[in-house]
Amino acid sequence: MRKIISVLICVVIVLQLCSCVPTDDTKVTENITAMNTVMQITVFNTSKGTVEEVAEKMLQRINEVEKLFDANLFDSDTSRINSAVTELTVKDETAELLNIAKKASETTEGAFDITIMPVLKLWGFNDGNYGVADDEVIKDFLEFIDYKNISVAGNTVTKNVNTQISLGGIAKGYLGDELMKIADEYGATALLSLGGNIVLCGNKSENEKWTVGIKNPKDTESIACSFKCDGNKSVVTSGAYERYFEYSGKTYHHIIDPKTGYPADSDLLSVTVIGENGAFCDAFSTALFVMGKEKSVAFAKEHNEFDFILITENNEILITDGVTDIESESGNFTVKSIQR
Ligand code: ADP
Ligand code: MG
Repeated sequence: MRKIISVLICVVIVLQLCSCVPTDDTKVTENITAMNTVMQITVFNTSKGTVEEVAEKMLQRINEVEKLFDANLFDSDTSRINSAVTELTVKDETAELLNIAKKASETTEGAFDITIMPVLKLWGFNDGNYGVADDEVIKDFLEFIDYKNISVAGNTVTKNVNTQISLGGIAKGYLGDELMKIADEYGATALLSLGGNIVLCGNKSENEKWTVGIKNPKDTESIACSFKCDGNKSVVTSGAYERYFEYSGKTYHHIIDPKTGYPADSDLLSVTVIGENGAFCDAFSTALFVMGKEKSVAFAKEHNEFDFILITENNEILITDGVTDIESESGNFTVKSIQR
């Protein structure tokens, strides 16, 4: 009998969800289940319309984006791409997201690769029907995994007939960017929690930053650290503990190394990426987890338009210069700077 455990939890929590938020008296909070996860939207204030109107627009946009990318909907762009075709026309948003995904693959030398889908299916990470994949089959399927097998020109997607994609590592980040546009349009201050991705729309107040907590990967009921963050940023965390199953005493998690087809054997426990472009933050957090500590530190040094928090298996919290006022909540971690 195999023992299956599936855990899906929010990785990052924003500490002031309950208190000290901007003009609390007018705020509206909405909860929604979308993209296989729980999302929460809190709109605190707005300079146009009402907070209810902003929240309503955001909920609508979540539904639209979900429909576009839902691999379980037969006519979504993801399903159409995953069918046995070599050329098709996709919506503007899909073309945009595929271009970002390809750029993220190039930047991370293939550590992020949406064409991972055939191997994800072998492990059951596409539908929760988990099982240990067969080594021979994994090796056979590795030939289907290559982001270069899919290209985008305008709205036309060209691909190998066997190429299938998973947008699980990037779609929530993209959705956050779409919702940020709505907040921007309305001049709204909002806090979004999209299944662990945090989106800080606007500044908390004129002279106060948001405070964000990062979950302790070793004890997900507690916080490893908290820090101060400017508004108009996404804070995205990837960790092995987010979704996994156990079989014969071994744990298999959902972040796959595209070079091996196996769950990434990482010396990092979690990777948080902070930046203005949520889609890239999402893709990079997944990729850096695959890359491991040494390559991730080098990556962080080269990409100073983003900030990074790497929690290592040796209980270090490695941070870049934009992560300010960090407080380690648990005595077990040592905070160190990545110099760049
Ligand atoms: P979560 O979706 O739990 O927030 P991530 O952003 O790290 O976590 O994305 C993990 C998801 O991305 C997996 O569930 C899978 O759908 C997909 N994925 C797994 N490995 C890779 C990879 N190397 N490159 C791109 N996508 C991946
Ligand atoms: Mg990701």
